Amino acid sequence: MTLPASDPAASPVRVPVDLGSRSYDILVGSNLLVESGSSLKSVLKNPRVAIVTDETVAALHLHALEQTLDHIGIEHSTHIFPTGEGSKSIAVYGDLMSQLLDARIQRDEALIALGGGVIGDLTGFAAATLRRGVDFIQIPTTLLSQVDSSVGGKTGINAAQGKNLIGAFYQPKLVLADISLLDSLPHREIIAGYAEVVKYGLLGDRDFFEWLEANGKKVIEGDEAARIYAVEQSVKAKAQIVAKDEREGGVRALLNLGHTFGHAFEAETRYGPHLNHGEAVSIGMVMAAELSTELGFLNRQDFGRIVAHFKNVGLPIALPRIADIDWNAEKLLAHMRQDKKISGGKIMLILMKEIGEAFTTRDIPEAEILSLLKQKIQE
Ligand code: NAD
Ligand code: MG
Repeated sequence: MTLPASDPAASPVRVPVDLGSRSYDILVGSNLLVESGSSLKSVLKNPRVAIVTDETVAALHLHALEQTLDHIGIEHSTHIFPTGEGSKSIAVYGDLMSQLLDARIQRDEALIALGGGVIGDLTGFAAATLRRGVDFIQIPTTLLSQVDSSVGGKTGINAAQGKNLIGAFYQPKLVLADISLLDSLPHREIIAGYAEVVKYGLLGDRDFFEWLEANGKKVIEGDEAARIYAVEQSVKAKAQIVAKDEREGGVRALLNLGHTFGHAFEAETRYGPHLNHGEAVSIGMVMAAELSTELGFLNRQDFGRIVAHFKNVGLPIALPRIADIDWNAEKLLAHMRQDKKISGGKIMLILMKEIGEAFTTRDIPEAEILSLLKQKIQE
């Protein structure tokens, strides 16, 4: 397949998220941080914002945003937090809230999240709760946050008891997905984001998967038109699902393809540096595909295509050997039972009928899951 008409000159592409009075646009393109002053201005009720970012992103991209805001006459304060998941904590949230109150951010002013999913989730939750709710804008700077976390309104922080346990559904007013920002992103983070990109193809769009088979490497290597198209298709897919099911009562669960397994791997490795979320989900998607095939839902040919594509682009397909981690099927199953998607004592899984058609089920016997886990550990 050739590259569809995603002309970089026509950038930005606008993808609407249709949620009634909470609707908003996602703009996808290159150089948006520098060139989207008027879009930013059009969603601000007042010419005053607070920028929230992390130390890494601040060093790379904060200056460009500040210049754009200066250029369009928007006053701004800046709030920089340590890089990493640790900033999705009650302590950092508390610190941010008091900084925002000290900066006298008012109800009709706004927050801008400039960063990856950590900053987006933290800032969104701060926006949801500051003075009972102020507007916020997402400027996602990782591939994962551009295609996933910045869209759909899930915001929150972690608790000692687990990840994302304190939060709110709260939609942004605008998302600027500037693919130029990805040029500074380490390769491993690109791969992690790409796992979520390919997920959209697997769960609901066979044509997109086929496009990725032909163009996935270009997306990973930094081809501008390919990146714009991949981000556009991903956010369209997510926007459509979120518009149907904002609070995950039904179809939104499909976005968890690979995640029930993936979360178990992340929990077992204690969210450490050896396995990041995208890598865990990548292995989890392969396992969901394998289980789908073993149970007779997905044909062997489609399964083979999935594995071949993952290998071709460098997505992990098997559990890595990690010092101190002794992979154990029973322990992984126990983590899966802890997953928040569990209800009525049954593990919910997303499986595939074919590439491009996923479904939700609670009917898979634990013995089947256990035997697959055992098999994968031996590989
Ligand atoms: P992240 O925000 O920690 O970013 C990953 C790393 O990349 C960080 O070190 C960051 O400083 C760095 N970085 C960010 N942008 C960069 C750039 N342009 N150039 C160079 N380095 C850059 O992590 P993430 O992978 O973006 O997001 C993960 C978080 O997102 C998790 O907390 C997860 O729970 C959350 N998440 C939320 C949702 C949702 O719907 N709200 C969905 C998926 C994930
Ligand atoms: Mg995910």
